Formats: sequence, structure tokens, C-alpha cells
Amino acid sequence: LASREGKDFNTIIHLPNGKTIGGEKIAVIAGPCAIESKEQIVEIAKRVKDAGATAIRGGAFKPRSNPYTFQGLMEEGLIHMAHARDVTGLPIVTEILTPEHVKLVSKYSDILQVGTRNMQNFLLLRAVGESGKPVILKRGMSATHDEFLLAAEYILSQNNPNVILCERGIRTFETFTRFTLSLSIVPVLKEMTHLPVIVDPSHGTGKRSLVNPMSKGAIAVGADGLIIETHPDPEKSFVDGPQTIDLDAFAQLMEELKPVARAV
Ligand code: PEP
Ligand code: MN
Repeated sequence: LASREGKDFNTIIHLPNGKTIGGEKIAVIAGPCAIESKEQIVEIAKRVKDAGATAIRGGAFKPRSNPYTFQGLMEEGLIHMAHARDVTGLPIVTEILTPEHVKLVSKYSDILQVGTRNMQNFLLLRAVGESGKPVILKRGMSATHDEFLLAAEYILSQNNPNVILCERGIRTFETFTRFTLSLSIVPVLKEMTHLPVIVDPSHGTGKRSLVNPMSKGAIAVGADGLIIETHPDPEKSFVDGPQTIDLDAFAQLMEELKPVARAV
């Protein structure tokens, strides 16, 4: 179902605010790594909307490597994010960690995100497939292109055609960057599949200074969109501060993206 073979269309995901992912324009999903408070997510939602964002992101259930760090506000976070949607009209993207949460997270979120650590959690893939919600599937940090597409196949095979693939960096010998953003996967996936492809330059590099150039690079190689971590004060961000850009840098990036490609 994911394969391009025999299909003469590109999948376009239609969002409740009339915007699309995989359509003519570049989609930009922006927001904090984690929802920290109602005020935080509302402020960010307003600012990224003014800058031209397509949707807002924010984690309520955080898949942290260290169990003793902040794990997210859980349902309270989802309620704050739904409030931010009411204020701005921006659709919500948030991560789901387990099949048991499909009902809860679907109640609030417009798009379900499956994180890199769960790309081969096949029961979760089936469950988000059954939900019927659009799904952002992040590439496993050690997954090959074929494994990535087979993971997408699990969702598609539940009669859910709304899958968005996200390159978010892979593990290599290099440790200067947090991961290695594998931009060549974008044109490869464009050959292999009709599904939209977005890029996460925040997790893909782990470094704030690289988010702007790698965003431009992603669009130059044909990505349909970006997912970017932004926060009013990245140094104080509960999670992933070093890769988070501030709201002015985000607005500046959106300006700079305009001439690069299909206008945002
Ligand atoms: C995230 O988007 O906040 C996240 C945890 O991403 P990944 O699964 O790519 O690490
Ligand atoms: Mn993060």
C-alpha cells in the first residue's frame, strides 16, 4: 500500500484548518518538545500561527531515555494543548506511546505521532491505524528505508491511508550532532512511495544552530514539510533545550523559507 508502484497520485493529508500536508505548500509543524503549562503552549501557539505554521506540536507523554526526568503532563497537557487549538485554530500533533492511550489521545489530538523509539512497536502501529487519525510516523533511529516503509504498511493496512513519514536523524559513528540527519532519504522515499515526507531538523541534529540550514536543505531535497521545536526561552525548556530555537528565530526561519520553495 505504501509503494508508489502502480499509483499515479501523491497522498495529501487534509487538516481541520483547511491546510494540507503533502499538498502544494510546505507544511510546518512547530511547538515545544513538551507541553509545560497552559500559558506556555498558548503563547507558543499564537506566535507560531502568526509566523505561518500549519499545526502545533507538543509532547504530553514523553518517551525519555532517563526515567528520572520529566515525563510530561499527560492528560493535563492534552487539555492545555486543546485550549491552544481553541485560541488559534491550529491542529494538534502529539506523541502516543501505547495502544491503551489511543482513545485518550485521539480525544484531543488531530494527528497522532509515533516516535522513533516505537517505529517497530507493531501493536501500536496497528492501533493508530485503527484510530483513523492521520499519523506522523518517525523513522526508527536505526531503521532502514525498507523497515520504515514496512512500519508505515502496518498503519496503512488498517484502512488508514493518512500516514506522514518523518526523517528525524539516525544513529551513526558521529557524536558531534545528536543524530545524523539523513536527508538523502527524502528523494529516496519520493521514488519509493506516494506518502508525504517531512523532516525534523531539531532531533535530527540536536543543535539549535543547525535547525535553520537543515530546514532549508530538507525543502531543497523535496520534503513536504518540517517539524520544529520552538520555545519562548529554550534555555529553560524542560526537554531538548539545546536543539530548540526561540520564537523570533522561528519567525525568521519562516521568512527565509518563503523564497526557497513552494511558499509556506
Ligand atoms: C519528539 O518529537 O519530541 C520526539 C521525542 O521525537 P523522536 O521520537 O524523533 O525522538
Ligand atoms: Mn524533543
